[in-house]
Amino acid sequence: MSTKIVDRKPLSFFENSYLPTLVSGLKVTWKHFKKSAIQGKPLTMEYPEQKWVVPQGYRGAPYLVKDQDNNTKCVSCQLCEFVCPPKAIRITPPGPNGAPADRKNAEKSPAEFEINMLRCIFCGLCQEVCPEEAIFLQKDYSLTGESREEMVYGKARLLQLGGIHGGIQKWKHKLEEAKEQEVFPVHAE
Ligand code: SF4
Ligand code: SF4
Repeated sequence: MSTKIVDRKPLSFFENSYLPTLVSGLKVTWKHFKKSAIQGKPLTMEYPEQKWVVPQGYRGAPYLVKDQDNNTKCVSCQLCEFVCPPKAIRITPPGPNGAPADRKNAEKSPAEFEINMLRCIFCGLCQEVCPEEAIFLQKDYSLTGESREEMVYGKARLLQLGGIHGGIQKWKHKLEEAKEQEVFPVHAE
């Protein structure tokens, strides 16, 4: 393997004086000053009182949701736990003698469901695989806590933060998506 030595171009006297970089820095400062002080368009915000309006489809923290009848949608199938890349989800199934699900057409619901928000990378795979539309990435992006334990959200907290998502029909949506793909213009060579 050959090594190519590249000569470093020496700086000119003008460049060595830092004047070009100083001037370009001042230009940026003037541009922002003009926008905020003269045109009245502030560039900063009073966070956390003011928060960013995140775009549609933003992937924030994942929370469990309930259906329109206030029942837990999760059936403890553990698919999300299986796919979660950083192993942020830990589900405790109800077991053979556990409490039954609180809704019709569900065999079981988790005895405990934890998400370690320090591990979560907000990838959305849990939402994608969930057959019950029971877990959704919501818009929360600023999660804080004073200890590691506090950042592990349990089932009750996840359900409370997730709220009610009624009328969701994943398989209907998936069917619509599949139908759209049939008319997708695929040109055979
Ligand atoms: S968003 Fe990704 S990392 Fe976070 S819990 Fe879901 S699957 Fe795991
Ligand atoms: S959230 Fe969905 S994928 Fe995860 S255990 Fe519950 S039903 Fe299964």
